[in-house]
Amino acid sequence: MSKWAYNFRQGEADGAASMKELLGGKGAGLAEMARLGLPVPPGFTLTTEVCAYFYAHDKTLPPDLSEELDAALTHLGDVAGHSFDDPDWPLLVSVRSGARASMPGMMDTVLNLGLNDNTVGALAKKCGDERFAFDCYRRFIEMYSSVVLGVAHHEFEEALEQYKERRAIILDAELHADDWRAVVALYKEIVAEHNGVDFPQNPHQQLLGAIKAVLSSWMNHRAIVYRELHNIPADWGTAVNVQAMVFGNMDDNSATGVAFSRNPSTGARELYGEFLINAQGEDVVAGMRTPHPISEAARQRASDAPSLEATMPAIFAEFKAYAEKLEAHYRDMQDMEFTVERGKLWMLQTRGGKRTAPAALKIAVDMANEGLITRNDALMRIDPASLDQLLHPTVDPEIGHAVLTSGLPASPGAACGEIVFGPEEAMELAGQGRKVILVRVETSPEDIGGMHAAQAILTARGGMTSHAAVVARGMGKPCVTAAVGLRIDYEDQSFSVAGRRFRKGDMITVDGSSGQVIAGAVKMRRPELTGEFAVLMGWADAARRLKVRANAETPMDAKAARKFGAEGIGLARTEHMFFEGERIVAVREMILADSADGRKAALAKLLPMQRDDFKELFEIMAGLPVTIRLLDPPLHEFLPHSDAEIAHVATAMGADPSKLRKRAQELSEFNPMLGFRGVRLGVAFPEIVDMQARAIFEAAIAAAAETGEPAQIEIMVPLVFSKAELDLIKRRVDETAQAIEAETGLRSSYHIGAMIELPRATLRAGDIALTAEFLSFGTNDLTQTALGISRDDAGAFLGAYVARGVLPADPFVTIDQEGVGELVAIGCERARKARPNVALGVCGEHGGDPASIAFFEEVGVDYVSCSPFRVPIARLAAARAALRRKG
Ligand code: ADP
Ligand code: MG
Ligand code: MG
Repeated sequence: MSKWAYNFRQGEADGAASMKELLGGKGAGLAEMARLGLPVPPGFTLTTEVCAYFYAHDKTLPPDLSEELDAALTHLGDVAGHSFDDPDWPLLVSVRSGARASMPGMMDTVLNLGLNDNTVGALAKKCGDERFAFDCYRRFIEMYSSVVLGVAHHEFEEALEQYKERRAIILDAELHADDWRAVVALYKEIVAEHNGVDFPQNPHQQLLGAIKAVLSSWMNHRAIVYRELHNIPADWGTAVNVQAMVFGNMDDNSATGVAFSRNPSTGARELYGEFLINAQGEDVVAGMRTPHPISEAARQRASDAPSLEATMPAIFAEFKAYAEKLEAHYRDMQDMEFTVERGKLWMLQTRGGKRTAPAALKIAVDMANEGLITRNDALMRIDPASLDQLLHPTVDPEIGHAVLTSGLPASPGAACGEIVFGPEEAMELAGQGRKVILVRVETSPEDIGGMHAAQAILTARGGMTSHAAVVARGMGKPCVTAAVGLRIDYEDQSFSVAGRRFRKGDMITVDGSSGQVIAGAVKMRRPELTGEFAVLMGWADAARRLKVRANAETPMDAKAARKFGAEGIGLARTEHMFFEGERIVAVREMILADSADGRKAALAKLLPMQRDDFKELFEIMAGLPVTIRLLDPPLHEFLPHSDAEIAHVATAMGADPSKLRKRAQELSEFNPMLGFRGVRLGVAFPEIVDMQARAIFEAAIAAAAETGEPAQIEIMVPLVFSKAELDLIKRRVDETAQAIEAETGLRSSYHIGAMIELPRATLRAGDIALTAEFLSFGTNDLTQTALGISRDDAGAFLGAYVARGVLPADPFVTIDQEGVGELVAIGCERARKARPNVALGVCGEHGGDPASIAFFEEVGVDYVSCSPFRVPIARLAAARAALRRKG
């Protein structure tokens, strides 16, 4: 036979904190506080198994429950010293919901249960206050009727308003005992009319009704929605807590409040909360009266209402001691409810408190420093993804601002600037040192230069994996996509939204963390990379095995990467260096040349630019490895399209525009993703490899002369599927190195490796590793090629795949462990067999995704590489993965 009811009273309890599953969070917390000897009003908890039974049996209660319920009530009566039908002093109880995971305010609670036409009189006599007793009774009728009997709140509110009008009364406080008595009569009429029968007078019947109503509230609409949002399983069910009432609304020596043991928005170690004198439970959160601060310190900061510390110093001191005791006991910040009845403090709830990302960080570090938890505990308490909020500037939440519209929070951080509608203008204005926001219907690869130049990107269309979103995240730029109601008129260089028109040059603010778009420039908060953040990162570095590098090719990104603690560059995409200004023309010349000589002429223009770029990267990363990936441009991103672009390239090459147009047409591809790119370019046109290798070695020599440290060169060949391809490229690189040694007498040491992004390459990783000294899994393309899904086109159906459970998550965000993950595992195993000291890395967005990092830790790769802004996230995620693996 199941045990359905668990008793608790100050000093002892059947339950404990560890029994959350059975007793729900609230019940377990009440039991634990009782065990700790805190003043908890006595009561009992009906287990979540009652709830399971209730739903499995057509919303009925277990037959043997009534016996246990009677026993529990008798026990409660003994402990409390009075019972439901005590003629002098009737027992009143609250009936409170409480699931395993806290679902604040989502389910129902009934207070003051046990009141009826008789007991209200007894209560009045016992506490010598008729007004109080009738006020409690009408509150109870209202709450019980709305929760249990389904009578709408507003019916009671309207009746009360009409009554007050008739008597020309404005404030509830002006109502006397006789008034409340009259209101009670009105309320009972409403119930009888609505319900067909009178308001239930028998407390036992009231109790059964309330228990069923609380159980039913598990399936109310808002609870269902909340569960879906927070991934709480529907079969967990709620417990029901029946507890003797204490009254914060008895007199001015009574009060009720809620408090956190530390400040939940900053994490500061201070009691933080609110209370109301002469009030009951819900009054504090209901917003009818403005609550007062708990502590004097908080009052001095924000309010002139007297604090609990000032008005009830002894109660404050007692409560503070309990808060400290609970926090030390749970080893976490607590969120507590309390009530003071005629100068006596009662504790009504405790649970782990919700907190902001900065507060979570500060609390974890402080608690480790205080010796409350270990450093590893601190690491396990911070969700790596939450660091995102700390690494980007944020809109100052203390300042109110008018939100124009919202879209998807596609890439975090906030920025303000002038509106521009095209990439060229963005680059031009940014070149003049102005801050711009690039506003587009959607973005395409042609916009990359403009995106780079902009402070933030705003689009009218596109999802979380749209081009704009993916590229912006990679760049660490704030981005909002699919902004609601944003209508862009490129002709007119303006957009309209929310009935307002904004023109080129107007200022807006884009908050990619919240998805909000705000008119004008808003004050920002700079990210803090010092203090607790730095401390926690240090602990993470001590705990992790995986190295963390960054994907970076511009000096700005490389500097950011170092600042964020990257241990080198894991991927420098050389084609990304080609988008700016005159460079793209030279690249187009190279691509469109129809002879080796023509190509060499174009390459000669590119060589010095590349050399300068590489030199800067080597200097910034002095002492750390830099992986340079040879050219891998999807051709269509570089081909000229418009007549003006073709004419521009033709002039530069001294070629005939119509011939050029023909050549561009020849090169245009049906499927560029699987086209003439990566190593295939180098195999067909080895002079491109020669140029890049020369640029790399000359840059390395120049950088070493400046920094005094040899550059750590890693040359990575993209998109290989066989050893033979790699061998061809390696030979050209080696020859270039020898040529430079002959010219300068200087020899650079370097490593050659392969980017593994085709399924065939993972299978042939053993061969490839005979030539490659390192392999880096390019899991973006590997996902595309393994699943046969083009990321740019996936938006149309991927959402449905995730929503219907075909895929557990977007495979471009979190690695598809079963498929792509297995390919990575196979590749690692085969490569290691062929070359035991082969270095194995992962580049691509998965390198910055905590769930994927946990998988890479299992597979045993040596490093991950991700966008600079995700480096700290990856460091923490790697530490947590290592700790979890060790158990
Ligand atoms: P929630 O989970 O929505 O916070 P609770 O069950 O905690 O709901 O109760 C709602 C309010 O009623 C809280 O402010 C709580 O402190 C108060 N309350 C609950 N039980 C009692 C009681 N036995 N005596 C006095 N106040 C109570
Ligand atoms: Mg509560
Ligand atoms: Mg690729």
